[in-house]
Amino acid sequence: MSEPLYSLRMRSSRLDSHLSGCERLAAADDLERLAAEMVGRALRHPRGRAEQISLRVDLVPAESIRNGRLLDLRTIRVDDHCQGRQAARELLLAAGVHARAADAAIARIALGAAPDGRSMRGAMLVDAVSGARLEADPARGVRASRMDLTAAAQRELRLRLARQGLDNPHVREALVLATKVLAAPEVLAELCWSDDPDYTAGYVATREHGYVRFPHLKPLGEERGGRAFFVRGDEFDRDVLTAFLEHAVLLIDEVGDIGGTSDWKELPCGK
Ligand code: AMP
Repeated sequence: MSEPLYSLRMRSSRLDSHLSGCERLAAADDLERLAAEMVGRALRHPRGRAEQISLRVDLVPAESIRNGRLLDLRTIRVDDHCQGRQAARELLLAAGVHARAADAAIARIALGAAPDGRSMRGAMLVDAVSGARLEADPARGVRASRMDLTAAAQRELRLRLARQGLDNPHVREALVLATKVLAAPEVLAELCWSDDPDYTAGYVATREHGYVRFPHLKPLGEERGGRAFFVRGDEFDRDVLTAFLEHAVLLIDEVGDIGGTSDWKELPCGK
């Protein structure tokens, strides 16, 4: 990649509370268009119009850019969010997350994982054995950033997602984010559902199963959402992992399999 790349990050808030965020990598020629798109998104958020919008642009050192392959994606059909959370829990357990850690993370996201009972700005770091929270700031959490797709990989991904009726920014951005998170060897699994009240889907990402989408991980209209990154406590250095998630640059140049929908009982995760 000879062309210099910039990291572009947006964060917006409303009523002193986090509203939305977005992170991309872009060549200089694309920066203005993407910045306008991000501002538009903050102004038209389903939870209301942003009152503060911060944009930050940083040139990324060319030698720090790593390439990678996107996680495979599949969808597991579930009837409602109760069944969805049950299936998500089962998948987390199969990845080596202990039941108390999976249950604690699901409950915290459901109740609003920030100290004020609302959604956090970033993700919880959760000890995969004890369920203890390990992030330094429980309101901010850790934000994964500096990851994106090459233009060719973005085109290919959109084509493949469109065949499954899934070509939307929620899925594209979350798939890229989960791929970066799972690139950290100390992360066993990620759990996410959105804080957007109109978007009930969520996912569990693991190395073995890739990005597994559940159409329902919360009821329609619910504003509380969040993310948990489950870490192996024995291999974990918070500063090293946080630096990787926030600063390492991942430019994904290969798209994984984009599979169809199956029933959750078919998921081979009974280890
Ligand atoms: P979203 O899928 O954008 O609705 O985000 C759902 C939740 O995931 C948010 O409420 C945050 O807690 C968390 N989150 C969003 N973006 C990031 C990120 N870049 N890194 C870590 N956590 C994030």
